[in-house]
Amino acid sequence: MSGSPAPVEVDTLIVGAGFAGLGLAIRLQRERRGSYLVLERANDVGGTWRDNVYPGVACDIPSHLYSFSFRPNPDWSQFYSPGGEILRYLQDAARDEGILPRLRFGAELTEARWDADGECWEVSTTAGAFRGRTLVVATGRLSEKRVPDIEGLGTFGGGVLHSSEWPDELELAGRRVGLVGTGASAVQLLPALAERAAGVVVFQRSAPYVVPRRNTMFSSADRAALAADPEAAQALRRTLFWEAEAGFTARIRATSPLSRLGATAADHLRAQVPDARLREALTPDYEIGCKRVLLSDDYYPSLSRPGVELEPSAVVRVDRSGVIAASGHRHELDLLILATGFTSTEPPIAGRVRGRDELLLADAWAGGMVAYNSTAVAGFPNLFVIDGPNASLGHNSAVHMIETQIGFVLEALDHLSATGASTLEPTRTAQDAYVRELDRRAATTVWTSGGCRSWYVDERSGRLTLLWPDTASAFREEAGRFEPGDFVRRLAGGGVAG
Ligand code: NAP
Repeated sequence: MSGSPAPVEVDTLIVGAGFAGLGLAIRLQRERRGSYLVLERANDVGGTWRDNVYPGVACDIPSHLYSFSFRPNPDWSQFYSPGGEILRYLQDAARDEGILPRLRFGAELTEARWDADGECWEVSTTAGAFRGRTLVVATGRLSEKRVPDIEGLGTFGGGVLHSSEWPDELELAGRRVGLVGTGASAVQLLPALAERAAGVVVFQRSAPYVVPRRNTMFSSADRAALAADPEAAQALRRTLFWEAEAGFTARIRATSPLSRLGATAADHLRAQVPDARLREALTPDYEIGCKRVLLSDDYYPSLSRPGVELEPSAVVRVDRSGVIAASGHRHELDLLILATGFTSTEPPIAGRVRGRDELLLADAWAGGMVAYNSTAVAGFPNLFVIDGPNASLGHNSAVHMIETQIGFVLEALDHLSATGASTLEPTRTAQDAYVRELDRRAATTVWTSGGCRSWYVDERSGRLTLLWPDTASAFREEAGRFEPGDFVRRLAGGGVAG
């Protein structure tokens, strides 16, 4: 007899308490769809918005669109919310919707294994064992930091910090700081560093395209009007959604929006950077849209401040007191901040999930992440992945995609209940057909042939595995519906349902 307590059993186990995990939990809770638990390795909800607290952190999707459609918030303080406000929105949602008792904090998934005899998922965590008929991986794509393999990084005498690990207190005054990377995190961080540090060197491996942000505050009258008229709030959301959708045509090179966006970025650079040499160094050498187009009004001006230097090449080596760039220049620094992103295309959790016949998800994804309708994976019965393969966007709100996938999961759960089947698994044929179609669409986009290296593309295969290569509305139409014919359904005890 073992001394360990029996696993806690529920219908649905959700891993992760960010937008995806909480969104699904809210729907399950509101609609009383059986028992569920949310396993969260940290001690609070919020996902990326709990972890990323660097100065300047904010969302570049409008607040009224970057929130649940089923939980509108008339009180957003500004058009683009700061990270802390989004975190509070998620914390309030968890509390007000009654999710808190269903959360298990400090519960990091160490292994999930499909038990074919028991027809359930056996899940081990740092807070005990769980068993669930269905497992939903909602761990996001910005949850594991990427630390580049830089020679000598461990020998640096100063501090090294990833942007997602910002401490409560960080003394910048009097220190010379190196900022590695020029993605969305770096662009948001630089203005605060430039203001507070004794000096900043920005290591730019490739220049980003930057367009004006033009954030605006909502007055108390604006907020009161939205609170008083929920239909006006929904109409605003719809307008923002369709405005964002228009940006997709740029990514498939429908020429006029693409050249308009490019012209906007070029005008912004010209207007904000008077120095011609600096401007040249900041001019991207790939097609606009290939990487995320960044929104900022204070990034370029910060680069022109005294004490701020642009090193237009990658960090290649670090020693005790300095950093050596690919250009050969050496920079003496006291602190190195890595705004080098996340391991989005190779999520480490895939190394901890074993499906049918002990198949490891990481092995199933050795050539890049794949899933049927971006959500269910052949070989992994009753497993759903939200915000995983081909479920991100470069032009519209991630929350729309997440809600689409939540809808898909709920339809699948309804199907299980209605048919009395015990397991559902997409057929390999259906999954392969879906993936082939995505590859076909991706081939004509700027992401695969725009001349950049981006985290949207899996380095191992060159496939676009992170982004959905079409509009957000097409995702809902094409991938949001559960089609029973594309699944193998097994009855309790192992028989295949007709
Ligand atoms: P990221 O976009 O992956 O950018 C990482 C940066 O690190 C890139 O500029 C990369 O250069 C650079 N880099 C990597 N190794 C380097 C080296 N050895 N030397 C110099 N540079 C190096 O990461 P992120 O900025 O953290 O953004 C991650 C995701 O979070 C993105 O989707 C972003 O949009 C999202 N995000 C969103 C918001 C928002 O407002 N919604 C805010 C922050 C972050 P290359 O460009 O050459 O690869």
